[in-house]
Amino acid sequence: MTLSKNIIEIAAVDKYFKDQRVLNSINLDVKSGEFLTLLGPSGCGKTTLLRLLAGFETLTGGVIAIDGKDMRNTPPEERHVHMVFQSYALFPHMTVYENVAFGLQCKHLPKQEIHERVLGALSMVKLDDLKDRKPDRLSGGQQQRVAIARAVINKPLVLLLDEPLSALDYSLRKRMQIELKALQRKLGITFILVTHDQEEALSMSDRVVVMNHGCIEQIGTPRDVYEEPKTLYVAKFIGAANIFETTVIEATEDTIQVFIEGKKYQLDNEGEFKKGQNVSVIVRPEDLHSWYNTEVDDTTNMFEAKVEQVIYKGSTVDLILKTKSGKRLSTTEFFDEDDENLDFKRGENVWVEWTLGWEVVLPHDE
Ligand code: ATP
Repeated sequence: MTLSKNIIEIAAVDKYFKDQRVLNSINLDVKSGEFLTLLGPSGCGKTTLLRLLAGFETLTGGVIAIDGKDMRNTPPEERHVHMVFQSYALFPHMTVYENVAFGLQCKHLPKQEIHERVLGALSMVKLDDLKDRKPDRLSGGQQQRVAIARAVINKPLVLLLDEPLSALDYSLRKRMQIELKALQRKLGITFILVTHDQEEALSMSDRVVVMNHGCIEQIGTPRDVYEEPKTLYVAKFIGAANIFETTVIEATEDTIQVFIEGKKYQLDNEGEFKKGQNVSVIVRPEDLHSWYNTEVDDTTNMFEAKVEQVIYKGSTVDLILKTKSGKRLSTTEFFDEDDENLDFKRGENVWVEWTLGWEVVLPHDE
């Protein structure tokens, strides 16, 4: 499906609770049919933004438009959005069927239409066989499916999902992530998911919105935010990052020179850095490569380190290295059982390098 017009427009949105500023000038457009994730640590304002979209909170400032209409005076039930809560919020005394039918019954739709739509929704979330059960006889994953069936049956323009998978154990959570993504593709409904789990955000989303203290730090595809973080906060929050703090010793329009672990490096100057500026050079663990001493003739663009830990993970071998300056680094090497050169031992000295250009250079955090 092509993602076209904006289904949601959020402009200069502020939210205060008493004198606490919880959202700070949020600007965000959400495309129709998009799977968007709000990602950030606890308390950064994700749920508040979702609740503002649903109409459960009022704006302190700014505008939210859904389907081109300013929502200021539109109550939740007229917004064509549906919120799925972390706790599922099912009616305990009703069966699965009755829970899913409830919204349509409130709208006094014809019985036959309700019946067909409920069966359709239950089949979509693979609950046809459990329609007569009460929620207390369902697993967490099944309860979550009922909540989703109840949401999609109303054919909302947008589904808001507040940490919908957080109560599930790891393997069920992984399975539900795939199911949820497949369901979203099938329905073509815009999904906005709130999570503090970066892996979940990266694996499910078309775009990720990284939030910090009520502000948006970066909006981008999962690949953008992982490979091209715009701030140190994003680099640290999404995935593991090795960060070398250093100072620019020479700068031209195209390149900078810095010392890292006692070796001089020439790097691309993509941030208009100037001589004397403090910068952080970020290299992901999978981009660092370790060589045995015996494998290396030319140590240009390499520095020395000692292997502190070897962590075998099946498809990868992770190393914790300690450099001569005492800095700890983590590296991930994809495991190839024919490659004897991945048989690193604790205490061994190695040379470390990365492919120049794969690093990200950002201004140093003050
Ligand atoms: P979590 O992942 O823990 O749910 P979050 O990023 O969703 O966190 P919010 O729930 O949006 O964060 O909360 C943001 C801030 O607003 C927090 O400091 C929270 O205590 C505060 N807050 C949220 N709701 C209210 C409320 N109704 N009254 C007062 N303060 C609130």
